[in-house]
Amino acid sequence: MKYGILVAFYEKIEATTKRLEMTDLLVQLFRQVPPEEIREVVYLTEGRIAPDYAGVELGLAEKLVIRVLAQVTGLGDKPIEALWKEKGDLGLVAETAIQERQQAAITAGEALSVRKVFDNLGAIAEAAGEGSQQAKIDRLVELLRDAQPGEAKYIVRTVVGKMRLGVADMTIVDALAAAFATKAEKDAVERAYNVSSDLGDVARVLASKGIGGLGDVKLQVGRPILSMLCERVPTLQETFERLGRCAFEYKYDGLRMQVHLTRKGVQIFSRRLENITSQFPEIVEAVRGAFLAKDGIIEGEGVPVDPNTGDFLPFQEVSHRRGRKFGVEAMAAELPVTLFLFDCLLLDGEDLTMRTYEERRQILKDVVRENERVKFAEVLVTDNEAEAERFFECAIQQGCEGLVAKALDSVYEAGARGYKWVKLKRDYQAAMTDTVDLVVVGGFAGRGKRAGTWGALLCAAYDKAADTFKTACKLGTGFSDELLFSFPQKFGPYALEHRHPRVDSELEADAWFAPNVVLEVLGSEITLSPVHTAAMGAIREGSGLAIRFPRFTGRWRDDKKAEDATTVDELLDMYRRQLKAVKE
Ligand code: ATP
Repeated sequence: MKYGILVAFYEKIEATTKRLEMTDLLVQLFRQVPPEEIREVVYLTEGRIAPDYAGVELGLAEKLVIRVLAQVTGLGDKPIEALWKEKGDLGLVAETAIQERQQAAITAGEALSVRKVFDNLGAIAEAAGEGSQQAKIDRLVELLRDAQPGEAKYIVRTVVGKMRLGVADMTIVDALAAAFATKAEKDAVERAYNVSSDLGDVARVLASKGIGGLGDVKLQVGRPILSMLCERVPTLQETFERLGRCAFEYKYDGLRMQVHLTRKGVQIFSRRLENITSQFPEIVEAVRGAFLAKDGIIEGEGVPVDPNTGDFLPFQEVSHRRGRKFGVEAMAAELPVTLFLFDCLLLDGEDLTMRTYEERRQILKDVVRENERVKFAEVLVTDNEAEAERFFECAIQQGCEGLVAKALDSVYEAGARGYKWVKLKRDYQAAMTDTVDLVVVGGFAGRGKRAGTWGALLCAAYDKAADTFKTACKLGTGFSDELLFSFPQKFGPYALEHRHPRVDSELEADAWFAPNVVLEVLGSEITLSPVHTAAMGAIREGSGLAIRFPRFTGRWRDDKKAEDATTVDELLDMYRRQLKAVKE
């Protein structure tokens, strides 16, 4: 097939903003394409040469394309650069420049075929290492030498990664269904795409085998599946109305990871289907050890966890790994990510997406052995509102966004956002405006860079009525290295073999200190907590109060004795005022 035919369609598609017209044009195009070339045509129409997840980068530098245009047209660098300034789109520059060349009677060679364009683009993407720059230039020269002005426009836009046709994936799905299937069969086309994330392959199968062939488009290791998404519901009550007895899972606030495993290797895909394997070497290694079967696809949320406090950290803390070639290992060692698994979609060749949530979760449990970096997402199956509410509080206190509730009998609907999975987030985030002064009553052994000192401190408020100290947070943020390594000296004099009798704690610290040192702490808010003992039972049975995301302000309150610390009653007051502020 001639590339010029494709370009004629592109011109028309570009000229319309109406989705229906666009779809019609694509239908006409797809019906004309020989089946053995439709895969290539679909990729080219998406402005690429492979499915997105394959990570094949064309992205030639604009400077380099300018040089090629100057060479092919004989116009020289300066006039091309001037044209670029004027038009701001290298595709249009190419079109104009080739037109000028034609007027100068330098005729193009043989008409370009789709195959030739696709192969040369492939060679451009593949060229690597020494001499690759020249190889890329040569392949592009070959194309532009023979290109008509309109063809040059789209070739250049494709190589610089700015095709801009405005055709969405779903428009292509619609067009493929209209071209090769009946209306009733559209869902099957969509499902094939959702499962394979590869429109080129879906098109190839449809064009060559018809709708019946789509059974061949299977979930495969190495090829990501579109993620199942959640609807939002405002209350637990509505959740139960919709789902009945259901599974509640922590909604971790990190990055969704779809992990593909074979004996040979591990690949990690993001929710946008990018291959992000190289950014997370610690996950690659950890899932290798944790996964017990031959091959499979498992899914979860990756969250950076403070090695000292066990607190979840914002994902931004590790986002600088993106795009790095070097140093990622060191970053991973310093602040590792933990993967919280919630699904298993494929196991030893068997597609599990049509199995129920309950079955998949059981299979996940059977096939993964937890380790330090790979854990199961916390889950609670219940139909009891009070129980679910407590679980929600635990999630918030541990740094999660809320809960995701899942229908026990639901299948995995790739790419769908529906009410089989619903998310429950807080509709408020109360700000903690005032600092508190807490007493240090224990220490946790430092890890990683903090080995050799206390990596986090157990802090307590004073309970006047009982004359005891009740824990309210584990504090590991806000300390300089110098300060951290002065801890053994600072707390050594107060170290005890056992918990101090006036300290009331459900957490087991690595070292206990007599309550003496008071420090100032600011958190994001005060929350209910099942693990901290401050004001235990005052608001709700089995829940105490805790400071969420606590940070040392830098101020030691040497002027205060332990009994002068913030009291449990004051914490209660602050919590109630916080609630009131939210309601107002
Ligand atoms: P939000 O910004 O609320 O996360 P979103 O549009 O990014 O919205 P949603 O579908 O609303 O995505 O929420 C689902 C996301 O929550 C998932 O994509 C996943 O990354 C994350 N998540 C965290 N924990 C879970 C869990 N246990 N089960 C499913 N998804 C989870």
